[in-house]
Amino acid sequence: MAKCSICKAQLAETFLGKIKGTIVKKASSSKKYSVCFSCQKKFSTKEELLEQLKKV
Ligand SMILES: [Zn+2]
Repeated sequence: MAKCSICKAQLAETFLGKIKGTIVKKASSSKKYSVCFSCQKKFSTKEELLEQLKKV
């Protein structure tokens, strides 16, 4: 089960296996991070999200 990279909440998946959340990619690497909707709301810009992902 996928987890939010910021708050570690489990992300629900649709029946197609798609996560209910968003995928954030760091410009400097090809690593992908899954982020839940509530973190997406809290950190509304990509810059803010990436700032949070630096800490994890
Ligand atoms: Zn989250």
